Amino acid sequence: MPLKKSMEKYILLTPVKKTAIWGSESWLIAAHENGDTLIQNGAWKGKTLGWLWRNHREYFADMAGERFPLLIKEIIAESDLSIQVHPNNEYAQEHEQGASGKNECWYILDAKPNASLIMGHNAKNKVEAENYIQHGQWNEFLKEVPVNPGDFYQIDAGCIHSIKGGIRLLEVQQNSDITYRLYDYDRLDQYGRKRPLHLKKSLDVITFKDTKIQVPSTQNLEFGTKTVFVETPYYHVEKYDIIEGEVLLDCQAPFLCISILDGAGFLDSLPLVKGMSLLLPHQCQELTIKGNISFLLAFPPYSN
Ligand code: ZN
Repeated sequence: MPLKKSMEKYILLTPVKKTAIWGSESWLIAAHENGDTLIQNGAWKGKTLGWLWRNHREYFADMAGERFPLLIKEIIAESDLSIQVHPNNEYAQEHEQGASGKNECWYILDAKPNASLIMGHNAKNKVEAENYIQHGQWNEFLKEVPVNPGDFYQIDAGCIHSIKGGIRLLEVQQNSDITYRLYDYDRLDQYGRKRPLHLKKSLDVITFKDTKIQVPSTQNLEFGTKTVFVETPYYHVEKYDIIEGEVLLDCQAPFLCISILDGAGFLDSLPLVKGMSLLLPHQCQELTIKGNISFLLAFPPYSN
């Protein structure tokens, strides 16, 4: 029997950087075959988060599942991302070799003046949607919403969406890399090719119901506030704004992902600075964050 090493209170990960036709992204907390973040500290330094998930499930409260459940990214959109949609778990399992579906959500870090997102559509049914697509009537088909820093959006699987240029955001999503593109502005990539579209699969998964918007709820803490943005079966996302004080993290979750949005502070003796993301393993929930600091907390619910 190998000696059981004591569990780290926190795990720092090296982001995986990627560039795209529309800008760049940084996979901050990721355990996917297309990007697996390296552990920077403690007993498992040099291993990946995917390795830790496969070999030390006690770090994650012995949560079930073949793959680590979440993926946290920073997305920098210099120009518009493709008009896209993601499948749900059922569809992805059947049509994408057992992959996970993709619900995702966005916290807007920066947005240029008059920035906007594509979110949802105006078609009542599949025939109407096909008609808009065939005739290239994208302005009539798609809904566009204005965006400001600090906004939060939940994008259910089946909801058509696109991040437009001039936006930097944090994305919390199911651990999936499956995107169906409906339209890519007829752009050419660095090799002079158009990126593939997936019209049939897109039409299979697009939903025609109005998405219910969860209104964020904010509560006062001893030093600052806590805002609950969304609670889904896949992830919960909350924001803490701590003003000259401290907060005890008492979330009941298998593990926590923290991303520092603004300000500075400490987690125990670890300095926390803007832009940093870290993972707190199970059993490490009794930790205090101190400072003048805002951070986003993402975690899977226990029932999952
Ligand atoms: Zn997406």
